[in-house]
Amino acid sequence: MKLYDTKQQLAIEVLPSESGTVDIYCCGPTVYRFAHVGNLRTFLLGDLVRRTLRAEGTAYRYIQNITDVGHLNDDMHIDVAEDKILAQAKLENKDPFEIARFYEGTFHSDLAALNILAADAYPKASESIGLIVDLIAQLIYIGAAYQGNDGSLYFSARSYKDYGAISRNSLDQLRAGYRFDAEQSQGQEQGKRFHADWALWKAASENRAMTWPTPWGVGFPGWHIECSAMSIHYFPNGVSLHLGGIDLRFPHHENERAQSNVATNSEFVRQWVHGEHLLFDGKKMAKSAGNVLHVADLIERKIDPLSLRLLFMESHYRTQMNLTWESIEAAHTTLKRWRKKIASWPGGGRVDQSITSAITTFFGDDLNTGSALLLLRKFEKDESISDADRRATFLALEDLLGLELNQMSPTELPSEALALVQARASARENRNWPLSDQLRDQLLELGVRVNDGPEGQTWELI
Ligand SMILES: [Zn+2]
Repeated sequence: MKLYDTKQQLAIEVLPSESGTVDIYCCGPTVYRFAHVGNLRTFLLGDLVRRTLRAEGTAYRYIQNITDVGHLNDDMHIDVAEDKILAQAKLENKDPFEIARFYEGTFHSDLAALNILAADAYPKASESIGLIVDLIAQLIYIGAAYQGNDGSLYFSARSYKDYGAISRNSLDQLRAGYRFDAEQSQGQEQGKRFHADWALWKAASENRAMTWPTPWGVGFPGWHIECSAMSIHYFPNGVSLHLGGIDLRFPHHENERAQSNVATNSEFVRQWVHGEHLLFDGKKMAKSAGNVLHVADLIERKIDPLSLRLLFMESHYRTQMNLTWESIEAAHTTLKRWRKKIASWPGGGRVDQSITSAITTFFGDDLNTGSALLLLRKFEKDESISDADRRATFLALEDLLGLELNQMSPTELPSEALALVQARASARENRNWPLSDQLRDQLLELGVRVNDGPEGQTWELI
């Protein structure tokens, strides 16, 4: 498989790390609100990479962190940089950990709704403080970090000579006054020695929620150090692929790269892969513009969330994509048509290997999913191929596409049952049998019986 590397600015072969597996790290959510569909497009990128590697027979491991502390709000309307989770906890009048656990739960159900494969682990920042503190201690020992006169700990940007290679920024370009980090622009980080340095650990009063003791005093971790600590811990031999949204390229990934490379004395991440922005009705999704789209909005309109998965695959992950209700509804129509045809086509056909291998090759070519789907649409209408063979071929691609094509149209299901059916498919995918059984019983109570066959899960109304 080839993927575009942001640092080298070209598509390169994805290779395993020294461990022998393709070790993938994807920046996870900050759990203080519902994920919008733009976030899900980035998470789908990680899913498509894994499905392609799986189709090619390549072993991988996948880690995605959960940021539940230390990600400061960059909303410029707030005078003082504030932790996103603490701000939301105040707003909802709840305990910050309760907020974090709630939105962590909705993150997982959104992933399940889009059939996104589960990670091998979802380490939480709040449960990785020891790793973070150890890494900071190491950076101080090396001489790449220091304690400022405000008590906070900073990374010394000048200790890493190759700073800026992912985003093509240099320290000279990052002059004082340039807004390259929200907390820096808002009069925080008074104690640092150089304008481009950033906080690894922020000193805080003991009265603040979510703080921990360290040898340097009470405080909480910065956001960038979290990803270095976790990726080094899970992948001590280095990361093969580091994924994230394009907005994380700078400063988050630059800072992470500097920390990890200095700490490990290596080019720790082999390849940086970024997904582009998603627009809705031509505009960037923003709370203030009122155009933030969530999975729940689709379910409310009785649209199968997998329509979004199909629609995302129509565009290349590196192009800015404009979502509209018309395009989502068109994708839903296609999905329903495919499912209906497949259900009506007879079984016992032969898989057309030339089609499955051409489609897998498109996926392997920097995720050229758009061309893969074009080919599939052509194949769907190819009358020279028997219905049975077309059915067998479509179903053979299910593992790669993840569209649940062997289902009847799930929009006939009540919406609560639809979510459960999808959660169960994902539970089975992840071999979580107890959860799968529990969901089966819940569905039965809603009048939906699920059956597990060789082609996966099917359901019927009783
Ligand atoms: Zn990250």
